[in-house]
Amino acid sequence: MIMSEKCKQHVDSCRFCWMCHHICPIGNATGHERSTARARALGISLVNRGAIELEEIMDNIYECCTCGACVHDCTTGWDPVMFTKETRLQAALEGKLPGYISALVDNCLKTGNAYGKTEICADLSAAASAHQSKTDTLLFLGADARFMACDQAVKAVKVLEKAGVEFSVLENEAPSGWQLDFLIGAANETKEQMSACAKALDCYKTVVVYDPNDAKAIKQLYKEYGVEVKANVITFTAFVASLIKEGKLKAENTGKKVVFQDPYQLSRDLEETEPAREIIRAYADLSEMLLNREETVWAGNILMAQYMPDVIKLVAERRIFNAKSVGASTVVTACVSEYVSLKAVAGDVEIISIEDLIVG
Ligand code: SF4
Ligand code: SF4
Repeated sequence: MIMSEKCKQHVDSCRFCWMCHHICPIGNATGHERSTARARALGISLVNRGAIELEEIMDNIYECCTCGACVHDCTTGWDPVMFTKETRLQAALEGKLPGYISALVDNCLKTGNAYGKTEICADLSAAASAHQSKTDTLLFLGADARFMACDQAVKAVKVLEKAGVEFSVLENEAPSGWQLDFLIGAANETKEQMSACAKALDCYKTVVVYDPNDAKAIKQLYKEYGVEVKANVITFTAFVASLIKEGKLKAENTGKKVVFQDPYQLSRDLEETEPAREIIRAYADLSEMLLNREETVWAGNILMAQYMPDVIKLVAERRIFNAKSVGASTVVTACVSEYVSLKAVAGDVEIISIEDLIVG
């Protein structure tokens, strides 16, 4: 397998250690050492040395959610996300993707989303058509909300309406490219999607990005891949927090006791931890989860549930257990994918989004 020297160095250094296995959400869910960063490095190093074929490790390569907990925890500075994504890219280039991943990639290329959806729900369509006029501000909803959690997308629209913001919503949004980046890394197809999206965003002065997956892609990965965005891009949480500060959203604290599930894309990748807390404290009584802010534990997503639903269910159940361990009865989410994952297994724990707190 062709791999950059930088990645080879990380693979060959990381594979002798096991110091981050306890924080890997997938490894903890499966209970398998093969699911952790070190084991993935070992598999890749065996391929690099010609001992096994690339196809033999690909299921394992797609077990990683790229949450970066291992990268954050690694005191020696090795980066399993980097070598995992480069291996995905190489498998795509060599035509060695697992069939279930090729199907998702094909959907991304044909429909702009991994789920192969072509229509948004009637409620979102109505909400979008009320904001079809061109304004300076775009609310960018993203594929997960538009196609898989329509009610939450509608609520995000209602939050900005409640604050009296003038904004636009697109009936047909360009994909940000985050799903392709997750599936096949920095391939030409990924960069082409990102460039097309950047061009669409540049028609606006401000772009409010609802989904942290899109926010990470647009604010961080675009720069890494040389894709320029001229618009001022702001996360939904940072934008809503500013609306509260400016008095445009009138909040009332109900005293409801909640904890917050930090999305890693905000807390680790974009180093944004406080705006969501400012919003929540305006509406409720916030205490903290075990492992919060940049130490957060990923709680599952919609994309990986397409090909490993049982593991994603276990991942979410473990995070619910963490919430119960601190006596929490309500968890607030800021990532629509984690909202869906947690909600599916919540039991007697209430899962609500930031939008739910604001518009009910
Ligand atoms: S990422 Fe760092 S801590 Fe984790 S196994 Fe590799 S070298 Fe060890
Ligand atoms: S990125 Fe996350 S899922 Fe992947 S090996 Fe690291 S901790 Fe585990």
